[in-house]
Order: sequence, then structure tokens, then C-alpha cells
Amino acid sequence: MEKRITKKELKKIVSDAYEHCKKIKEGNNAGYIPYLAKENSDLFALSLCFVDGDIINIGDYDYIFGIESISKVATALLIMKEYGCETVLNMIGADATGLPYNSIMAILLENDHPSTPLVNAGAIAAVSMVRPVGNKGQKWKSICDNINALCGSRSEFIEELYHSEALTNFNNRSIAWLLKNYNRIYDDPELSLDLYTKQCSLGVSTEQLSIFAATIANEGLNPKSGVRIFEARLSPKIISMIASVGFYEHSGDWLFSSGLPAKSGVSGGVMGVLPGLFGISAFAPPIDKAGNSVKAQAAIKYIMEKSGLNIFDSCSIRIDE
Ligand code: GLN
Repeated sequence: MEKRITKKELKKIVSDAYEHCKKIKEGNNAGYIPYLAKENSDLFALSLCFVDGDIINIGDYDYIFGIESISKVATALLIMKEYGCETVLNMIGADATGLPYNSIMAILLENDHPSTPLVNAGAIAAVSMVRPVGNKGQKWKSICDNINALCGSRSEFIEELYHSEALTNFNNRSIAWLLKNYNRIYDDPELSLDLYTKQCSLGVSTEQLSIFAATIANEGLNPKSGVRIFEARLSPKIISMIASVGFYEHSGDWLFSSGLPAKSGVSGGVMGVLPGLFGISAFAPPIDKAGNSVKAQAAIKYIMEKSGLNIFDSCSIRIDE
């Protein structure tokens, strides 16, 4: 059975999801990063960007928040562009850890085999790989240029968020040095940690993240700027990483209940990709114990359920004679 849905119907579902979820009170702002702890908990935004560039926006869609772990998706793409997928698989890996995003245990358990660029350890290793190795200024420019290109407009460095994280990131510092111990970091650990912290502190809106996600859904061609950001063959690679570990230890539950590969960040942002159709993004600061926004999850699940769309539903795929 082929499924059909109009943009108008989707627009109605998105606005219903917003109304339905805005009263949710569960979850708490991330407590371990002071800037995030004091962010307004009532902020709520939803954006959906179709692969033709049309956008549905609702709520605080132009509010700028810290991209946090969603930046890991961008830098994973950057190193796949620079080194190729096989090298990234060998130097970092693409395995779900099944453990929290900042797990040190995951590194100890898999010290002979790295995990994925989408958890802290792999993300710090990914930043360490960004070229030119050893040149902090150029590496930072390359990371920012890549995120801006994916979003189709400039991200904003949130200085206060960066300082807030840099003063409290003792766990990530341990991760960077533990990676060094296992020869799994490919540039200076302090340089890599600092650039990782900076990339997490880039500010974006849900509108920008929906364009980022739509660029992945559109096989690397940014539907807003019309610029090709990466080769089409990298799309399924990054989507597989997002699907396997985008919600950390809750990734399986998330995929099972939403049918949408998506990546979360502790600031309360979520970015999801439905290949060939659209990118979606939601933002609301209160998160659950795994670090995933409660309202954003509820809203995206609502949209997926009501629209009947699901990445695992093969009903519209045809094999010709
Ligand atoms: N900057 C955060 C950290 O390293 C990112 C974590 C996240 O968004 N899950 O802890």
C-alpha cells in the first residue's frame, strides 16, 4: 500500500503536536552545565523542512540555543568527507555503546575497538581528526564552516555557554586523556577537548536544524541554499549512525516508538531525518535521565504516529521487473 500525505495535512499535524505537547511538565533542564540549568524551561519550538526547502515553523523556532551533541552529526560528516567512511569506521567506529553519552565505562569496555562519533568519546576523537591536525584555528574554522553550510546560515558562538561548559567539563577531560592512553585520539587531547566544547556551544535555531536534517534527507544537497554539502553516498552512512545511537542508551526504544532516526542534545534539541522527505527539529530544555528532551520526543512521536510515516515501513518501495 502506498502512503500519501499532503503538506497541508502535515502542517496541521505539526501544529496539533505543538498544542498537544506544550503543557507537558516532565523533565528538568540539564543541571551539570550552569548555562543550560538556567535556560527558560518553557521554550518550545518545532520546525520541519521538506526536501524542496519549504518549512513549517511553530513556537520559539528562531530562538538560539546550544547545539550540543547534535554538532556530533556535523563533525562525523566532516571527517567522513575528509578521510572516507572506511577510515572513520576503523579509527572511531559506528557501534552503539548502549551506555550514557559521557560514559567512561564504554571506553574501558571497548578499548581495542572505538565506538561511534555520536557519543562524547568518539566525538572528541572525531574533532581530533579534523584537518589540518595540529592547527587549532583552521580546524575551528572548518568545523564552523561545515555546521553553517549544513544549516544554510551562520550559527552563533554562545560565549557564556562555552565558558560554562569549559569550567565544568572534568568528565570530558578524563575521556580525552583516556583516549590518549589507548591511542584513540589523533591530535593533542586538550586541543581536541577544547574544540569539542566550542562546537557544542554553537547556537542554532530549530529552523536551522531542520534545514541541516533536510540536507541529510536530501542526500547532501542543502534544500535552502542549493549548495551540495556532501556526496549522496554519505547520507545512508550518517543516518545509520544517527539511528543506532542518536538517543544513547534509549536509542532502541526511541526508534521502536517513533520510527524516525534522530539525534538529541542536552540543551533540549532533537533533529530527525526521514530520507527523501524531510528533516525535523524540536527544542524544549527539560530532558529525561538519558539527556533527551521530553517535550521534543513527545512532539516528534506524535507527528510520526499521526502522519503514519515510519522509516522501517517499506510499503512504498517498489522493485521493478
Ligand atoms: N557538551 C555536552 C557534553 O559534552 C554534550 C552532551 C549532549 O548533548 N548529550 O556533555
